[in-house]
Amino acid sequence: MIARGMKVRSEAQPAFAVQSVTLLGATGSIGASTIDLIKHRPERFRVEAVTANRNVVELARLAREVGARFAAVADGNAYRELKIVLAGSGIEVGSGEAALIEAAERPAHLVMAAISGAIGLKPTLAAVARGATIALANKECLVCAGGMFMRAAATAGARVLPVDSEHNAVFQALSAGRREDVRRVILTASGGPFRTWSTEAMRVATPEQALLHPNWSMGNKISIDSATLMNKGLELIEAHHLFALKPSELDVLVHPQSIVHGLVEYRDGSVVAQLGAPDMRTPIAHCLAWPDRIDGLAPRLDLAQIANLSFEMPDLTRFPALALARKALEAGGAAPTILNAANEVAVAAFVSKQLGFTAIAALVEATLDAAGRRGVINEPQNVDEALAVDHMARSLAHDLLPEIAAKAS
Ligand code: NAD
Ligand code: MG
Repeated sequence: MIARGMKVRSEAQPAFAVQSVTLLGATGSIGASTIDLIKHRPERFRVEAVTANRNVVELARLAREVGARFAAVADGNAYRELKIVLAGSGIEVGSGEAALIEAAERPAHLVMAAISGAIGLKPTLAAVARGATIALANKECLVCAGGMFMRAAATAGARVLPVDSEHNAVFQALSAGRREDVRRVILTASGGPFRTWSTEAMRVATPEQALLHPNWSMGNKISIDSATLMNKGLELIEAHHLFALKPSELDVLVHPQSIVHGLVEYRDGSVVAQLGAPDMRTPIAHCLAWPDRIDGLAPRLDLAQIANLSFEMPDLTRFPALALARKALEAGGAAPTILNAANEVAVAAFVSKQLGFTAIAALVEATLDAAGRRGVINEPQNVDEALAVDHMARSLAHDLLPEIAAKAS
């Protein structure tokens, strides 16, 4: 029955309001997958703002393509160029950190947080503060400041939807039971391109080899993290914050096919998993439409064709980065912030060939030790404290870099 005076929705009208989306990190790999999905459903999604680091031409192209209202570039010197390439489009432009924050603050329903690295923390927190729904890809901001990030989200009533495929899988599997009945959560790891390599072979691995991920096509930072297994370590810390899980409730299993993304074990022995092709458009589609479902764009899963799924324990001797991250998770306090900052420095140094592959974990470990000796142990309580620890750890890692590079060569 419909009350008098109430409008009956015509059949032609969509059953949902148009949803506005802002893309922080629009020019990256997650940005591209998100835009792919949005372009497929122009009647459902509208883009409010897009941001990039310094690729003005690509940012402008994307902004025009999706009809964004605002485009912001982090590089403060790129304002004029962006203004010129978007002249006549009607798209507002901005540059520098304040413009990224403005992008996050503009009134979009959902903010895709897909900047790479802890540098994404401030803009993402700006979206959190206004209570937006956050599709969170940027795991580094949770590793850097997870405690305060989740408290800020709870205070502002901002819902955080996990984009990272393992966490998205766990999020879906957690809907099968009650939180208090969860015994264990397992994140899967592909094992990366060096899964079967010896430490000796990894010592001389090149960035080109490390960037060749067997299953996923991703940005450089996360591809290197996948090769060291630091990515899985960062993901343990990410899961701890997202789902309020104790370190002892979190496990990692190497699963080279990347089909089962995450599993939740309940007290009755049931293990609920989410499966899908290794394509980020599936978890992104889940976040964009949540709690609805929209058509995905990834190839459908053909298990008969895949035939075999295998699982093995991670080798912490060959992949010490995972052990370091778990240790930082268990230690808590400032350790995850330091781990993340040192790892960002180490990965950049490896990509620019200043550091060998196996020295990435060595530099992270040396930075954690040095920061401990300096007495940096307390968990950051706000964004300024988190960024101060982050900066201190980066500077320690830079100081230690020559020594570690020389030792490892
Ligand atoms: P990417 O390197 O492809 O893209 C990063 C984006 O961030 C780009 O738009 C870049 O312009 C922007 N950016 C980089 N540095 C910046 C800076 N200093 N200031 C402002 N913007 C900056 O990275 P990606 O693979 O898309 O990953 C993005 C995030 O999502 C990372 O945190 C990653 O761990 C996470 N993630 C990615 C995948 C994946 O499949 N690519 C999967 C899970 C999680
Ligand atoms: Mg992942």
